[in-house]
Amino acid sequence: SSKAFYSGSATDRPTLLPEFSLKDKVIIVSGGGRGLGLVQSEALLEAGATVHAIDLLPVPAGDSEFAKVAKRAGKLGTSLTYHKLDVRDVETLNETVEEIAGKHGHVDGLIAAAGIQQETPALEYSREDVDKMMGVNVTGVFMTAQAVARQMVKRKQKGSLVLIGSMSGTVANRGLICPAYNASKAGVIQLARNLAAEWGEHGIRVNTISPGYIVTAMTAGLFEAFPERKRDWPNANMLGRLSYPSEYRGAAVFLLSDASSFMTGADLRIDGGHCAW
Ligand code: NDP
Repeated sequence: SSKAFYSGSATDRPTLLPEFSLKDKVIIVSGGGRGLGLVQSEALLEAGATVHAIDLLPVPAGDSEFAKVAKRAGKLGTSLTYHKLDVRDVETLNETVEEIAGKHGHVDGLIAAAGIQQETPALEYSREDVDKMMGVNVTGVFMTAQAVARQMVKRKQKGSLVLIGSMSGTVANRGLICPAYNASKAGVIQLARNLAAEWGEHGIRVNTISPGYIVTAMTAGLFEAFPERKRDWPNANMLGRLSYPSEYRGAAVFLLSDASSFMTGADLRIDGGHCAW
């Protein structure tokens, strides 16, 4: 039976290999209120982690997807907690992360998924909009990683940070008018490599996951404006389709667990083999 593959006692999470377990790990997920961040949070909970989501959205209602995931977490014997917070508010960010680490005595990982997207032709982009994009997608991600790494260094513990980049951080997309977004994601990928180089001596690993097009609220907005993208974009990868948030669950668990203990400074592109037509 499939039970034969599970390791450990009944209280352990069922995992194929023990090194994929996140049992007893405390993980913070920015942008964990919805979309990719919430789907990845659910996977971390299933792998045994305690998860703290930080997000700009109002506190999720009782019938929200977030609340459903939190309820399932309780059944799994772990927990999903919500913190309403803007990652640009560095003071509150630091206080919140310190409070989380203090409560559990440790913090073991981060997924930095909070991000924004804006389509505007480059000739029309305003200074304010570029600043906002960089403020959330680069500075916000940097400060979140710093807040978490500070707690790890202070507590002399190792950990794993996963920053969400994008395939748009390394390729230019014709038909997607996002110069500032793409520049910000290139920034995230290079930021991760440099944090990895600097924090390796503390046993802190830093990697990026760079997704291709995912069907979430973010892309729904892009499809509304230009319906032909629904036809064209699936042709821009080797599998001929868009992706779903659930296809990024395994990578999150892998990178945050001991299964990836020798992996750092890497950009894990999960883009269906993005390619020219
Ligand atoms: P969503 O917009 O569904 O989720 C992003 C979450 O981040 C939202 O809940 C949003 O809140 C929150 N957020 C935005 N700004 C801040 C802030 N300043 N402080 C705290 N939280 C904030 O997007 P996705 O789930 O699609 O995207 C998740 C990540 O994946 C992003 O970094 C995105 O760039 C990246 N990505 C997405 C792709 C896609 O095709 N969808 C492709 C490649 C990468 P609010 O809604 O209130 O703004």
